[in-house]
Amino acid sequence: MSLAALRPGGEDSKRALARALAKLERDPDSAASQALLDEAWRHPRAAVVGVTGPPGVGKSTLCATLVAAWRKAGLTVGVIAVDPSSKTSGGALLGDRVRITTDAADEGSFVRSMAARDRLGGLADQTLAAMVVMRALFDRVLIETVGVGQSETDVAGVADTVLFCVQPGSGDSLQFMKAGIVEIPHLVVVTKADTGISAEKARRDVAGALSLAGAGPDGWPPRTLAISARSGAGVDALMAALEAHRAHLAQEGRLAIARHRQSEGWVREALRERYGTRGLARLAALGLDAALPAGGQPFERLRELSSLLERPR
Ligand code: GDP
Repeated sequence: MSLAALRPGGEDSKRALARALAKLERDPDSAASQALLDEAWRHPRAAVVGVTGPPGVGKSTLCATLVAAWRKAGLTVGVIAVDPSSKTSGGALLGDRVRITTDAADEGSFVRSMAARDRLGGLADQTLAAMVVMRALFDRVLIETVGVGQSETDVAGVADTVLFCVQPGSGDSLQFMKAGIVEIPHLVVVTKADTGISAEKARRDVAGALSLAGAGPDGWPPRTLAISARSGAGVDALMAALEAHRAHLAQEGRLAIARHRQSEGWVREALRERYGTRGLARLAALGLDAALPAGGQPFERLRELSSLLERPR
C-alpha cells in the first residue's frame, strides 16, 4: 500500500483509497498501515479545515458548498465526515451515512464517513490517521464533526483551521458566549443568513464575545462571518478568510508548531486509551512522556512508547 496508488485522478484511486482507509481503521498497528502512515506523514500537502457546530446548523450544506468552491478553484478535496450517531460499527463503509453530497463521478473529491467512537468525544479515534493520509493526497482536507460539548477542542486536535457554525435566532450565539469555550475557533460562521432572522445581530453578538477572549493559541484574532449556503451570500468572504488563516499559519513556523501540538496531544490520548493513567504514570517513572522531538512523528512515537510499556518487567 503506497501513496502513489491513492492519488486523486489515478485509475481506481477512489476505491483504493477507501480500501486503504478501511484497513487503517481495522488494523492500525499492522506493518502496512504504519508504513502508509509514515509515508503520508512525510508528505503533508493539504490545508486541513475542521467544521463543527450543533446538529441542524447547516454544517453538511456548508461543507458541500466549500467542496464545490474549492473544486471550482481547481483544488482537490478530501472530506472526513465524523458520524456521531454510529458508535458501534467498526468503521463506517464508504457512502454509509454520508450526509454531505458531492459529485460521485468527480475524481478530485472524496468523502469518507467515520463512526465516532468514544475516545475523542465526537471524533472518531482513527480520525488523525485518516487525516494524515488524506492530507498527503489532496489540496484541502475538510473534517466535519457535530459540536457537542468538547468537540470544538477535539476538532482542533486534527484541523489547522477550526470553523464553528452557529444558527441565528437559535440561542447558539448566547450559548457560545456563556460556554467559555476551551478552544477558540479561528472562524465563526453564522449560517442561513437568507432566513431573515438577523444573522448580522448573531454575528455581532459572537464577535463581541470573541473580542473579550482575544487571540487564539496561534495568535490569530478569530473572525466572524454570516453566510448563506443557499444563496451563496458570504461564501467568497468565507473562502478568503480560510485562505487568510492559511497564510497566517504559513508564517513564523506557526503551522509546524500547531501540528506538533496536535501530534503530542494525540500520542498522549492514545497512550491513555491503551494503558490508562497507570500507563502514563509508569512512563513518567521511566522519565518519559508523550512529548515528541521537533518534527517527530506521532505514530512512530506511539509505537516506541507502547513497546516500552509492553516489555515484560
Ligand atoms: P447539519 O446537521 O449541521 O449538517 O445541517 P444540514 O447541513 O443538514 O442543514 C440542516 C437544515 O438547514 C437543512 O434542512 C438545510 O437545507 C438547511 N440549510 C442549510 N444551509 C442553509 C442556508 O444557507 N439557508 C437555509 N435557508 N437553510 C439552510
